[in-house]
Amino acid sequence: MKEDTIAAVSTAWGESGIAIIRLSGPDSSALADNLFKSRSTLAASPPRYMRYGHILDQTGEFIDEVLAVRFEGPHSYTGEDMAEIHCHGGTMAARKTLERLLELGARLAEPGEFTRRAFLNGRIDLAQAESVLGIIRARSDKALSSAARSLRGELSTSVRTLRDRLLALSAILEASFDFPEEDVPLPQLAEITPDLARLQSEAEGLFRRCRDGQILREGIRVAIVGCPNVGKSSLLNALLQESRAIVTAIPGTTRDIIEAVLTHRGVPIRLADTAGIRTPADLIEEAGIAQTLTAVKQSDIKLWVLDGSRPFGDEDRLVEEQLKGERFLVLVNKTDLPQALDLDRFRDHHPGIRCLPVSAKTGKGIEELKEEIVLSVSSGGIMEEACNATARQVEELRTASALLAEALQARSLDLAANCLRDSRLALERFLGISADTDLLDLIFSQFCLGK
Ligand code: GDP
Repeated sequence: MKEDTIAAVSTAWGESGIAIIRLSGPDSSALADNLFKSRSTLAASPPRYMRYGHILDQTGEFIDEVLAVRFEGPHSYTGEDMAEIHCHGGTMAARKTLERLLELGARLAEPGEFTRRAFLNGRIDLAQAESVLGIIRARSDKALSSAARSLRGELSTSVRTLRDRLLALSAILEASFDFPEEDVPLPQLAEITPDLARLQSEAEGLFRRCRDGQILREGIRVAIVGCPNVGKSSLLNALLQESRAIVTAIPGTTRDIIEAVLTHRGVPIRLADTAGIRTPADLIEEAGIAQTLTAVKQSDIKLWVLDGSRPFGDEDRLVEEQLKGERFLVLVNKTDLPQALDLDRFRDHHPGIRCLPVSAKTGKGIEELKEEIVLSVSSGGIMEEACNATARQVEELRTASALLAEALQARSLDLAANCLRDSRLALERFLGISADTDLLDLIFSQFCLGK
């Protein structure tokens, strides 16, 4: 099917030095030549050669002084013939130019349509397309470099290699099921176990790297929990080194969740200070406690604050109850005061739990705490290996890895083969090999216009 020609302003609207109007499709140059006046037409100019000229409207009225360039498919972003008009920034010149192009027969591009065409024309795979979105949205150096790594195809290559090896292993199993009369010897589970274990650990590794990438983009969600007056608000302030939370000595007055973001080693940490968990004294407090419980559930890690200057009490026990089964780090606060908390006994009850001594008042242990938060969720190193991936891709990798782990536990070849097949399908959805239109719509609709 012959594609139509699409157009959009690809730069952000608003005051800026330049604005770029982008065209993609067979009529790109011809459409641009209708309003672009220069010594030669764009169509007659060599590709990738910037030409100086003017944009005129239908009555010959001058709109702007511009630079224009054309690209010849397949050597373009979308893989099709393309043209770009670089006019002055601000909204008027770009809008008038675009309107004129639409009047002449171009269609306004849908969000993400340029990148979608690049994918459909085989210029990039789905993982690379989604990393374009990662680059656009990156808010830290590390997030940007992880998106760039994915765009260069590092991630896709790893996933594709994994998928090919899975396919090969599946083929061995399926052949023995499908053609028993051919005397294909049925392999024993034990024979494929080493290969399977290697594939599983690689899938798990990729999942972790992509999960790191997701954390770089979205930040680590941290909930500060503990009973009233242990110093949660003070800790939040110490972490932020500014007074954003209300610090108070009256029990139960921090009723709303206060959220604040800081970055440590380029990783965003999203902190929520929550209302103290204890038996509510009134309805407002009850609402605060309900909010706390939700924030605790949604966070990636919990900081359980204890007051080192007093013994472990009933209210602390209530918090302990709420934290059952959650991932948490214990902060023993107020270490500047004489200590009354029996830490040894506490450690006996919680073997293997990290306990950090801190003082919100003096700032002791705060830097170590930031480091600990980042380390607690990253998969070794400080996210140097992170790959950019969308939430969808992270889920596909999680599924693929979990299914391989299941295959390792399988008691029959049949079951193992099923898990292998489903795992491979997850990787294929990741790469977009078996992507259907609905999935593509979902992915590309997240892009901004003109991308
Ligand atoms: P929250 O109810 O858990 O949020 O506790 P706050 O942050 O409001 O602190 C309760 C009280 O403990 C306040 O009077 C703080 O000044 C005090 N406090 C908090 N952290 C420390 C600390 O590290 N050392 C000392 N000495 N006092 C602290």
